[in-house]
Amino acid sequence: MPRTLDPELRRALAVRIHYYNEMGIYDFYRRPLAAEVLISLEEEGIDSGQALESGEPMSPRKAAALAVPVVEENIFEVIALKPEQKVSDPVKALKIIREDLGDCTRCALHKQGRKQIVFGVGDPKAELMFVGEGPGADEDIQGEPFVGRAGQLLNNMIKAMGIEREQVYIANIVKCRPPGNRQPERDECDTCSPFLMRQIAVVKPKVIVALGATAAKTLLAMSSSMMQLRGRFYDFKPAGIRTHHHIDDSDWDGCKLAVTYHPAFLLRDPRQKGEAWKDLQMVMKELGMKAPKTSR
Ligand code: SF4
Repeated sequence: MPRTLDPELRRALAVRIHYYNEMGIYDFYRRPLAAEVLISLEEEGIDSGQALESGEPMSPRKAAALAVPVVEENIFEVIALKPEQKVSDPVKALKIIREDLGDCTRCALHKQGRKQIVFGVGDPKAELMFVGEGPGADEDIQGEPFVGRAGQLLNNMIKAMGIEREQVYIANIVKCRPPGNRQPERDECDTCSPFLMRQIAVVKPKVIVALGATAAKTLLAMSSSMMQLRGRFYDFKPAGIRTHHHIDDSDWDGCKLAVTYHPAFLLRDPRQKGEAWKDLQMVMKELGMKAPKTSR
């Protein structure tokens, strides 16, 4: 039978969860068995609140019960959200993520010549989001993604869809410029992308377009070729993020993701522009958009 959590235990649990949050851990999982064990502990006269705070060694049975009590009010639903998920304004939420990132030194790219962190730009409520690989030289100088030659081409692609750059949200897998425009390493992508996942969960787009293989493979956790990845939609949920919660009344629970060529690749091989346009047309259809007559 569901039980209400003892206020003392609730407080102690909140302190423990806050401690994990400080270390960047936000996801917790419940073991359904725990409720029965917790009840039997209480039947034995063991005070679960005191036991949790005492720090004394405990039996595995007691520890299991205290770590994951099953209760009527789900404390994990409230406390285990990322900090930005506790505010409903996406502008403020993105600001919280940016502040959390700070002067980031989490991966090797922080000491390889970056001038600044390139966070992301655009409408925080955009229906359409573009995700590239990482900042280049121009982006590193200006602090904004896709502002160089590849950015100009991306702007043209967006215009061809009948919308403006300001109406979409643009970000990259890694937020610091890899030296010499090399591809970001796998561990750099893995370290940086959780921040992108959090941005995606705030923006809540209807469709994400992954630009190039690095973005596609990181977002989809797949290592297929571009030829295999393009031409279809994937169901996407940002990894490690609780998408379904009641803070902002949103019922967003993921979106569609399409893959197309990175604009930098299209500059090197313009013959593929037609293929990229097919990908964008597929996205437009999904979003119910019509291209302007003068688009191409
Ligand atoms: Fe931090 Fe991302 Fe820059 Fe690496 S690339 S230092 S994880 S902001």
